[in-house]
Amino acid sequence: MLKLELHWQILIAFILAVVFGLLFPEGVTYVEWMGTLFLRALKMVIIPLIISSIVSGVSNIGNAENLGRLGLKTMTYYLVTSTFAILTGLFFVNILQPGVGADLGLSKQVEGLDAARDSFGDTLLNIVPTNIFNSMANMDMLSIIFFSILFGFFITKTQEHHKDTMLNFFDSTFEVMMKITMFIIKFTPIGIFGIIAGVVAEQAGNLGEVLASLGIYSLAVVLGLLFHGFVTLPLILKFFGNVNPYKHFQAMTTPLLTAFSTSSSSATLPLTMTAVEENDGVSNKVTSFTLPLGATVNMDGTALYECVAAMFIAQAYGVELGFFQQVIVVITALLASIGAAGIPMAGLVMISVILTAVGLPLEGLGLILAVDRVLDMMRTATNVWSDSCGAVIIAKSEGEELKI
Ligand code: ASP
Repeated sequence: MLKLELHWQILIAFILAVVFGLLFPEGVTYVEWMGTLFLRALKMVIIPLIISSIVSGVSNIGNAENLGRLGLKTMTYYLVTSTFAILTGLFFVNILQPGVGADLGLSKQVEGLDAARDSFGDTLLNIVPTNIFNSMANMDMLSIIFFSILFGFFITKTQEHHKDTMLNFFDSTFEVMMKITMFIIKFTPIGIFGIIAGVVAEQAGNLGEVLASLGIYSLAVVLGLLFHGFVTLPLILKFFGNVNPYKHFQAMTTPLLTAFSTSSSSATLPLTMTAVEENDGVSNKVTSFTLPLGATVNMDGTALYECVAAMFIAQAYGVELGFFQQVIVVITALLASIGAAGIPMAGLVMISVILTAVGLPLEGLGLILAVDRVLDMMRTATNVWSDSCGAVIIAKSEGEELKI
């Protein structure tokens, strides 16, 4: 009962926020703090939640063989779905040709461009942290995940009494963190009201620009995302997981709306974990392994968006990308989506990787800046949706009985 109510509350808050943001843009400063507070609370639980979750999950998986099998399934799912997403984007951008004849006058500077390009090659090396506390302080998800998996795994190699102490400790910490998360979730409608009112007030002025020159580009991204989210992933859910996609969708409404509102898979992670465990009935063993990893590396929506955006920029500059170069776009879009952090606008910055790979000017990014916020919301929801589908499919393949 309460669950249904929360969904409705969130939807109503969402609609009210849109109306409020449009009618009283100046009044937004009085409500934005609610969104800020909600995001802070979510970020507060992320690190202790994923560490306790992964350590207890991995130590319960037990042996290297099970862990390896789970890892292989998870990575296969991520790569396959992201590739599907990119190909879908490539299809729509080639059909609609949004960049042909697009106005090039809108070049703007994008923050963080160089940093993203430089650090991309180091991403793999940086998975091994030099100082785990530094990684926690900087929210370096991949390092934290790596360390937690290692920690959980080696708990199982210790003597009985050490093992019991550690297992009890991390299981209990995880329980406490889940309780705190559920408490924060109750405030989702208020938080989303604050966030959406702010976004609407800020973006209202862009509407003309969006419709004029970026409309077809946005359409290509949105159609691609809708196809991937409502056709490809449900089919995979049905045929590989044998679950009812609609029921799973219902179970996921709160995290999906939150992903949409916050544009951050990482900030949504606590809600995703709670929904997949509580509503779908997936074990902590599977969620703890797949979801934190998914929020960081599995970004179907971002992958699709990267590909469409790069192709759009190429078209706008009048550069014809041949088959071979489109293959490069696909591969780099995959890498860029893996490398993108689960935070707002991360995907935009990562497009520089693709542009560099196919020799397009980075200034092209200025072209698509105006509509990034709205597309970010949609791709983030797709990212979280794909993560959750992955968790369900893997749980099924491990023989778990689910509620959906
Ligand atoms: N905002 C997205 C996410 O958190 C990443 C992106 O910018 O594409 O999933």
